[in-house]
Amino acid sequence: MGADGPRVGPIAVIGSNMVDLISYIHRMPGEGETVEAPDFRMGCGGKGANQAVAAARLGSEVVMVTRVGDDVFADTTLRNFADNGIDTEHVLRTRASSGVAPIFVDPESRNSILIIKGANALLTPQDVEAARPAVARCELIVLQLEIPLETVRAAMDLGRELGIPVLLNPAPASPDLDIAQLRSVDFLVPNESELELLTGMPVDDLEDVRRAAEVLLEAGVHDVIVTLGARGALWVHEGGQELIEAPRVQAVDTTGAGDAFIGCFATSWVRTRDIAAAIRAGTAYAADSVTRQGTQSSYARA
Ligand code: ATP
Repeated sequence: MGADGPRVGPIAVIGSNMVDLISYIHRMPGEGETVEAPDFRMGCGGKGANQAVAAARLGSEVVMVTRVGDDVFADTTLRNFADNGIDTEHVLRTRASSGVAPIFVDPESRNSILIIKGANALLTPQDVEAARPAVARCELIVLQLEIPLETVRAAMDLGRELGIPVLLNPAPASPDLDIAQLRSVDFLVPNESELELLTGMPVDDLEDVRRAAEVLLEAGVHDVIVTLGARGALWVHEGGQELIEAPRVQAVDTTGAGDAFIGCFATSWVRTRDIAAAIRAGTAYAADSVTRQGTQSSYARA
């Protein structure tokens, strides 16, 4: 069932968008120095946009709530949303720079990354409120932490008020997110380092991960799904735990794997309401994405 078939959802993604500006360099210039670099590439990214694109490519109807700037990067992002069939009614133009990420890749494939949040930092609780009629039609709200925390909280509150399940991907890890704020979260999907920062507990082995996840259940989260890279994902819930292994693949580039997992999990859960099946689908889709270079460019279409 591809983007042109019967659609799932809708799903509301309330979050970020970025344009990646990737320079392939021989070396970083020193202070006051100008050096030539051999290559440059531009790509659409941002955790919110990545998750929205993965979900849309798998057949979800996606309502995107985000802010872009008033520059050419905004045009690129809007075109990308449209190309992926994403509803852009709540993609708001802002008198600011768009979110951009200048990335420098050296000949050994080591990355140095700057994040300029730009318009993403200006997405407000009022913007979430303005999107209420569109969000009210949705079957799942998907959130991350590249927008202001008060806006994430407003979206969680709206989900609770409307009785719509909320998925929070607490990424990038934020010391400002308190676990007491997570009681409106149905699905919390951290990776190991995000789980460690959130709980202040070690995550050295699976038993540690389970113990830390249980603290989040006690805080009111319904289901904790910890992504574990090549090992897959651990689902911890009131009734127990289940390790869902990722297929073994030859990994080429793992950037955006977590976002691929979430876009697929969201689509599959809305379609089936079966959490284990949705995690299996998410691990398989994310594993496939790491076999190709790039972020959104590595996301398959259904
Ligand atoms: P990123 O920040 O790179 O987007 P993440 O840290 O949020 O990733 P991970 O836990 O590394 O998320 O990976 C998410 C999912 O991607 C895993 O649950 C797994 O299904 C898949 N995955 C990641 N790396 C590999 C790998 N080397 N082989 C197979 N699957 C992988």
